[in-house]
Amino acid sequence: MSPSPLDADQREALAALLYPQASPDLAAVRGRYAPRELPDGAFVTRFAPSPTGFIHIGSTMAALLCWKLAQQSGGVFILRIEDTDRRREVDDGVNLIIGALAKVGLANTEGPQLDGSQVGEHGPYQQSERLPLYHAHGRELVRRGHAYPCFMSAEELADIREQQRADNAPIGVWGQWARCRDLSVDDVKARLDAGEKFVLRLRSDASPGDKIDFRDRVRGKLTLTANLTDAVMLKSDGYPTYHFAHPIDDTLMGITLIIRGDEWLSTTPIHLQIFRFLDLERPPIAHIAPVAKQDGASRRKLSKRLDDEASMDYYHQAGYPPTAVLEYLLNLLDSAFEDWRAANPSASLHDFTLSVDNLSRASSLFDLVKLASVSREVVARLSTDELYAAVHAWATAHDPAFAALLDAEPEFGKAAMNIGRDAEPPRKDIACWSDVPTRFGFFFRSRFDGTLPAAYEALPDLGTDELLHVLEAFAGELAPGDGESSRDWFGRVKAHALDRGYAKSAKKVKKNPDAYPGAIGDFMAVLRVALTGSRQSPDLHGVMDILGAEEVARRLAACRAHVAGG
Ligand code: GLU
Repeated sequence: MSPSPLDADQREALAALLYPQASPDLAAVRGRYAPRELPDGAFVTRFAPSPTGFIHIGSTMAALLCWKLAQQSGGVFILRIEDTDRRREVDDGVNLIIGALAKVGLANTEGPQLDGSQVGEHGPYQQSERLPLYHAHGRELVRRGHAYPCFMSAEELADIREQQRADNAPIGVWGQWARCRDLSVDDVKARLDAGEKFVLRLRSDASPGDKIDFRDRVRGKLTLTANLTDAVMLKSDGYPTYHFAHPIDDTLMGITLIIRGDEWLSTTPIHLQIFRFLDLERPPIAHIAPVAKQDGASRRKLSKRLDDEASMDYYHQAGYPPTAVLEYLLNLLDSAFEDWRAANPSASLHDFTLSVDNLSRASSLFDLVKLASVSREVVARLSTDELYAAVHAWATAHDPAFAALLDAEPEFGKAAMNIGRDAEPPRKDIACWSDVPTRFGFFFRSRFDGTLPAAYEALPDLGTDELLHVLEAFAGELAPGDGESSRDWFGRVKAHALDRGYAKSAKKVKKNPDAYPGAIGDFMAVLRVALTGSRQSPDLHGVMDILGAEEVARRLAACRAHVAGG
């Protein structure tokens, strides 16, 4: 495509006219960014979110990948805030990001901190504070004839789009459609004097049909369609677009691997032009696939609008331990993680070495069932004190009533949530902290009483007389003796039930319903419902042990009164 009609002096004059405040000494501007001294093979990565207030689970996966590569190689993990679209920003967006990363343990080594400071020599790390740097590069682009000011109005842009559609031409500001490409310096000056606003556009040098080669760190060698459009580099408010800021920042910050979502692959040809036009050394780029969800027969990207689990808030509210979320995301990122975990069941995930070569081109399927199973394993590895502290912290924020119960009886609460975790095999039924009040809330008298009498509807259908008998037996002769083991106690219960004609299994009752009052499972269910309000509960011997004889007797009496009264 045609080069700029302006000669070097005219371009110099235009550059100074557009960005008079910007430094013309690009070498000096860039010279502030010294190379880092790092071990061989160290990764310098960056997570570069926009402060929109929403943290997608896919962003957390990208942040984890960046953090992990830096952590395992003695490198640097940068947090860069891309706050150049002021319409999308929310108040406190930066702190929300830092807080969200801190919650899952992904602290940055360079970038903004929660106390408002910035750590690192390659900043500022917030793009809105880097405008002079972008302007200096904008000025240089103009000087080199690779950019020009464009005054086209929204109506004009709509107008050319319509014509392009009618002509079946590629859509956008390019070639003959780019009306301001060849304005003289005097034209520009007159329009500026008249108070007209401009954007700075790239002067693409590609022609329709041009192709370029690009090697992606995940997808390998690709042939892309060259960028034809004169994309906006600096907006009329002086803020850069993503396209312009990314090549400048990633080069000057010394990034050694750019990791970003594959939605950026389509505009990579624009970025490649900018690297070339500005002689910026381009770091390798890895475009990673999004986190997807199975939706009927097809797969689709997890959507902020449709899927609650797309938001990190979902995991915080449910109380998934951060390590479980990270561990599951590592599973999705690197298929070698699962085998490593099997071989190193109690190792910290810091000890796993992730390989960029294992990153997948295909989207990874996010499966809440699998997350829960990973999480149950993670929770099973926690000590009682760690478990209690995590549940307490979660409850304080998300279930204050439950936190108050724990505060009133911490040892009791600890014993309750720890039930069966020391058994062989250990119970692994806590996937997230909200499971604890749901499954173990019955231990607390006020919570349990609050479920009555509705909970009694789960009592098996044995008839009033038989129910009363069973309840009385458990309150009397079938109460566990002092020091009696779970096995011995259960042996006695079983023998009693068999004596009374109960069947060993539900199957037998099904075959011959009139022959038995019920199965042993029904006999036990009476006690289960009376003590826990549910047909599903932890080991009853353990439950009684924690509740204490007095509370057990109280609950049995309450149930008896209910049955007798009904
Ligand atoms: N701010 C961009 C985004 O949120 C960053 C993309 C990148 O990592 O380069 O999508």
